[in-house]
Amino acid sequence: MNTHRMDNFLDRLFRMAEIGATRAGGVCRLTLSDEDKMARGLFSDWARGLGCRVEVDQIGNQFAVKQGSDNQAPAVLIGSHLDSQPTGGKYDGALGVLAGLEVLSRLKDEGISHKNPIIIANWTNEEGARFSPAMIGSGVFAGEFSLTHAYKQNDSEGVNLKDALSRIGYLGKGGIEKNIKASFELHIEQGPVLEAEKKQIGVVTGVQGIRWYKISVTGREDHAGTAPMNLRSDPVRTMNALISDFFNMADDYQPEAKLTIGTIKTEPQSINTVPGRVTFSLDIRHPNEAVLELMHDEIIHSCTHKYKDVNLEPIWHSPHVPFHKDCINAIENAAIKLEIPYRKMVSGAGHDSVYVSRIAPAGMIFIPCRNGISHNEAEYASPEDIEAGLSVLYEAVKSMIK
Ligand SMILES: [Zn+2]
Repeated sequence: MNTHRMDNFLDRLFRMAEIGATRAGGVCRLTLSDEDKMARGLFSDWARGLGCRVEVDQIGNQFAVKQGSDNQAPAVLIGSHLDSQPTGGKYDGALGVLAGLEVLSRLKDEGISHKNPIIIANWTNEEGARFSPAMIGSGVFAGEFSLTHAYKQNDSEGVNLKDALSRIGYLGKGGIEKNIKASFELHIEQGPVLEAEKKQIGVVTGVQGIRWYKISVTGREDHAGTAPMNLRSDPVRTMNALISDFFNMADDYQPEAKLTIGTIKTEPQSINTVPGRVTFSLDIRHPNEAVLELMHDEIIHSCTHKYKDVNLEPIWHSPHVPFHKDCINAIENAAIKLEIPYRKMVSGAGHDSVYVSRIAPAGMIFIPCRNGISHNEAEYASPEDIEAGLSVLYEAVKSMIK
């Protein structure tokens, strides 16, 4: 490992992490906040220092463009995000954006010229912590959401996304040609697999399918002390049966299926009233779209045929996304060439690369993070693993530029 290079990279990463730094060692850099504005400014300064021009599009995505010798040649894009969760870590997102600058800096130091332009993207609102949905910047870029739809989104304080962009000076007019040869994103795994298997690189072959639902069960409000149990219409009882069906189903599709009930809310939220209604969320994921479909069918069956007074509302479906073979091969070949232990894997989380892959060949590189912890102030990736990720990214990009 070139320690001088690595010190420079970590210096940038930690300087970025000072913006929105939390006491517990994490980062709070919500999208389009003052902190996000500062992070964007720092990124622009660094990119200009490396000879880039910086474009901002109408959804606030930043693109640092390093021209090649042929401006008509398709670009190689490297991107991720600088926004964070409210109690996020230093590595999620920032690693992938700063890795793009590192690639430019290595090319410069090694005197390597290139024909294809290289573009480093910082996508707006990847996290979805302030505005819904997540990955809105890359989604608009790829045509998944309309700009009008994105602009209409409000945060929890009623601030509109368009106004938030304008407030920090990032309601841009620029942009880039969608003429992209390959797109790469370096990211921490956000799971425990690489660490457990002592692999430094995850060659990501795709992102698993995700379905979200809002389920509500209606019953009748009653007095908790006087209404006999057998005469109640208690929606929590039905929810309990549904949830146990769901977990049994998830057990049937192990080890790959994931099922999470992240929110449950009874109404009217009184300790001594049998609720009249309960609403809960359901998140299911599977790397095989056909199996995700089977899980979906079982959920529909339980909600519509097996129990009464259940209302199921599908709210999001992001199908399994396979990454492009050229990008997967470029990453795998880089790991082989550098003799870095790797495995192929499917991403459990959504990423900007999912949307980018709709308009360009895309691929992702994962590195381990300690105990698989992410979306947490304790998030940590070792310098050795970061170096492995940077080197694989650098080789993969070099194989795509002329
Ligand atoms: Zn991320």
